Amino acid sequence: MRPGVILWDVAYIREIIQDGHPTLRKVAKKVDLRELEDPLFQQLIDDMFETMYAAPGIGLAAPQINVGKRLFVVDLSEADDDGGRGPFVVVNPKFTVTEGEIDSIEGCLSVKGMIGDLKRFERVVCSGFDRSGKKIELIGTGLFGRCLQHEMDHLDGILYIDKAQNIRPAETDEEKAALAEVEAEGAALERNAEAVSASA
Ligand code: ZN
Repeated sequence: MRPGVILWDVAYIREIIQDGHPTLRKVAKKVDLRELEDPLFQQLIDDMFETMYAAPGIGLAAPQINVGKRLFVVDLSEADDDGGRGPFVVVNPKFTVTEGEIDSIEGCLSVKGMIGDLKRFERVVCSGFDRSGKKIELIGTGLFGRCLQHEMDHLDGILYIDKAQNIRPAETDEEKAALAEVEAEGAALERNAEAVSASA
């Protein structure tokens, strides 16, 4: 299920930086596609997946591990959503379609333990490049669509707390359950954690 590892079959868990770190507030730089040929860039992608799975989460953007480049990883293959999607890495992502509006409850691996309510587009079409430089297009609805929007915001220096209302700690079991259902990055996706460890 995990994407193929290019180098020595080793990926490293990197530190996820937290709100207050300046990198989270910078607009990330476009990736020169020639960088994809660099083994260190492929290692970065592997490390992003590894870090996301270890958190555990369902999405992670490069700025969250202090790398100011425009790429993110998502994996909803274990999520109890509309069939699950991924794993995907998207380099230089761009929304070509944004439409509709839905309510979202989100958390973030860089804003630990908190959730908040916000509006997202109901459907997005995201184009970009995969790890080999091939053009890809992802159609995002439901949790997957919200996750794409959350990760895209990270590339523009935006955190969900900038847009959310009623930001609160996920405290009660009910709130944690709600978080597990809908949060964008899954700091407390307990169901996912079980699934991931069961398959590890
Ligand atoms: Zn986030």
